[in-house]
Amino acid sequence: MPIQFPRLIRLANLPTPIMPMKRLSQKFDGIDLYIKRDDLTGCALSGNKIRKLEFIVADAVESGADTLITCGGIQSNHARATAVVAAQLGLKSVLVLRGQEGNVADGNLFLDELVGAEIRTITEEAYRTRVDEIMSEIADELRTAGRKPYVIPEGASNALGTFGYIKAMQEIIEQAQQSKLAFNAIVCPVGSGGTYAGLLLGKFIFNEKIDIFGFNVCDNKAYFVKRIMGIIDNFKSRFGLSSMIREEDIRIIDGYVGKGYALSRQEEIDTIKAVAQSEGIILDPVYTGKAMVGLLDQLAHGRFRNMKSILFLHSGGIFGLYPQKGLFF
Ligand SMILES: *Cc1c(COP(=O)(O)O)cnc(C)c1O
Repeated sequence: MPIQFPRLIRLANLPTPIMPMKRLSQKFDGIDLYIKRDDLTGCALSGNKIRKLEFIVADAVESGADTLITCGGIQSNHARATAVVAAQLGLKSVLVLRGQEGNVADGNLFLDELVGAEIRTITEEAYRTRVDEIMSEIADELRTAGRKPYVIPEGASNALGTFGYIKAMQEIIEQAQQSKLAFNAIVCPVGSGGTYAGLLLGKFIFNEKIDIFGFNVCDNKAYFVKRIMGIIDNFKSRFGLSSMIREEDIRIIDGYVGKGYALSRQEEIDTIKAVAQSEGIILDPVYTGKAMVGLLDQLAHGRFRNMKSILFLHSGGIFGLYPQKGLFF
């Protein structure tokens, strides 16, 4: 099935490398673990969101926008990436963040402030019930003031953003061919669903056998199957791609949310330390740490025993580590 990508603005350093995780692989007989380094898409732009923003921000610029509005948790990687992109392109940004700022901005929030984003914090309750409404009210407010706002949904996980991970899937397939690697599965964390939706669409578009597994870092499996199916349905109606993806094709492995979104358990901290020390790879506490705990636990229980080669998507998030450093030592 051929695919035509919409216009994009090049923002990410691509392709990102695929590397073996040698010491970690030795723990599991007959399975090779690899890592796709999307934590290296950039420095201040590091992580998965920038792949989606390449398409979404191109649309914003084309529409004449002068301000990007988006939302997320107080330590949102997506909000930070959006704020940095805005600064790079000479745009303004407004971030609607869930939670409180605290005394000293750390991690992502520090960078948000450094690049001049306007921060508006809202309560957990307001976020859950009406964040989209709040963003459109801010957009109205800016339009009244003569500005040209462009609203980007949580995690940049809309149909357009999905192209970022369809393209990433194409990149992975090319890299696998070049290095003569045959991955049986790709595993990734799932937070707002766009990354998973893009990889799965890519699998179908490029007719790949590779299985895509997602570890949810909040909510539950049923929630994400619905949310990801929603993104895919939107994608289909907006871009007219006929795919045969059904709910059963969405493979979410639940059970590793732990204490909840952005809250760390001791085993997550220990896994982040272990991977840092054995591979020199820095995972994050909100997404990749939980997904890695999930992958290693599933491997230990024989889940992937019929597979030879698994690719873990490192989706970034390093700045989220700093506000949690007190939990580590
Ligand atoms: C947002 C994010 C994810 C989750 O990706 P979604 O497309 O929102 O599901 C995973 N890892 C990191 C580091 C993120 O910032």
